[in-house]
Amino acid sequence: MPWKFDYLIVGAGFSGLVMAERITNTLGKTCLVVEKRDHIGGNAHDEYSDAGVLYHPYGPHYFRTNSPKIKEYLSRFTEWHEVKYQVSSFTEGRYWSFPINLKTFEQLIGRESTTEEFEAWIAEKRVPIDEPVNSEEVIISQVGQELYKKFFEGYTLKQWRRHPRDLDKSVCGRIPIRTNRDDRYLREEFQALPKHGYRVLFRNLARACGNKLKILLNTDYREVCQNVDFEHLVFTGAIDEFYDYKFGRLPYRSLRFEVESFEPTQLRERVDISGKQGFWQPTLQVNYPNEHDYTRIVEMKHATGQATDNSTIVREFPEDFGPGKEPYYPIPAADSATIYRQYEEMAKQEKKVTFVGRLATYRYYNMDQVVGMALKRFEDMAKPAVV
Ligand code: FAD
Ligand code: UDP
Repeated sequence: MPWKFDYLIVGAGFSGLVMAERITNTLGKTCLVVEKRDHIGGNAHDEYSDAGVLYHPYGPHYFRTNSPKIKEYLSRFTEWHEVKYQVSSFTEGRYWSFPINLKTFEQLIGRESTTEEFEAWIAEKRVPIDEPVNSEEVIISQVGQELYKKFFEGYTLKQWRRHPRDLDKSVCGRIPIRTNRDDRYLREEFQALPKHGYRVLFRNLARACGNKLKILLNTDYREVCQNVDFEHLVFTGAIDEFYDYKFGRLPYRSLRFEVESFEPTQLRERVDISGKQGFWQPTLQVNYPNEHDYTRIVEMKHATGQATDNSTIVREFPEDFGPGKEPYYPIPAADSATIYRQYEEMAKQEKKVTFVGRLATYRYYNMDQVVGMALKRFEDMAKPAVV
């Protein structure tokens, strides 16, 4: 006898589990979530290193949002630890204040300055482009070639193996540029980590579904879908894989992570930006736009505030996507958009399949945007059922 569930959900990341929570609690229906990894949470995952330090194994996940609705929804499953995500950029043998702000300009000219002076400098350097259409133009139109080449061109080539002019303007446009001393990496109003980590947030999200939810880990959905009797499929994996690459493969970027831990004796000589000992690097994240094969090093202890004398860092190496690699980043560019549109057209015709999330809709979305998408997709899907 096949298993019987109302919904089969592929993927246990934010998309899959928010959908499961809404479906079980609002509609009272049963869900089977199938996840190929050995844990829930998707890429928004944290764990303890051998040195006992909480870190993010799939790259840093800095929660942020401007949406009170999304914050309120997630606050049912977690308390928050507010964080100032502080980043610097290392090039030409020194740490630079980053994202570009008045302090960066002062480092460049070697003396104190003012917003007025920086703005006058920018007015002279910026390339006058009214409507930037790509990631090169979005930066040079704000600050000119010198700062673009120092901080953006090399990093982007390394990360995407594409020139910034061949990437949508939203890619480099994510990074704020300010003429005051505000050096926060992100723009959003609310910036915080789940107080007890992502694992606890996801555990609470799953528990909230009660016995209407079953989760199957270590399983590709193709292994089980023939044996499950379900009414509706929610798919949060890669859309080109779902359709057996019918319109060709969508391009993705992958990553390799190198984790290293340190004992207090190895950290004694090293200090953070405020002179405090016990950290390996001065800020939570250091970007390496020009030197090394990695793009950034993240020392999550700066953000979690964990009371430990050890520390753990993660170096992030961009890699081509291929067999055995994770599709971490959809690539926002004209050529990939052309391929995706064909899959999107097919997806729109589906009556019994809902596509949700970063991979299923091929969007370079942050966690809050994905949660927002899942809440909206659920509302749309549930409409006929609740009238
Ligand atoms: P995912 O988290 O990718 O979950 C999809 C799940 O589906 C995965 O667990 C996968 O194993 C599973 N799956 C796929 N195919 C199958 C299959 N065939 N069978 C079974 N299971 C399958 N967002 C932020 O807001 N802030 C950040 O700082 C941030 N940093 C990031 C850094 C990196 C390196 C990356 C890659 C992403 C970052 N993000 C960040 C984005 C964030 O990870 C996503 O927005 C969010 O995790 C997307 O959730 P999702 O459920 O759509 O996808
Ligand atoms: N970027 C850059 N230099 C930097 C930081 C970012 O050129 O020091 C560009 C790069 O193309 C990168 C994009 O801006 O992929 C977005 O950066 P973000 O830090 O938001 O990337 P994510 O955390 O999503 O990997």
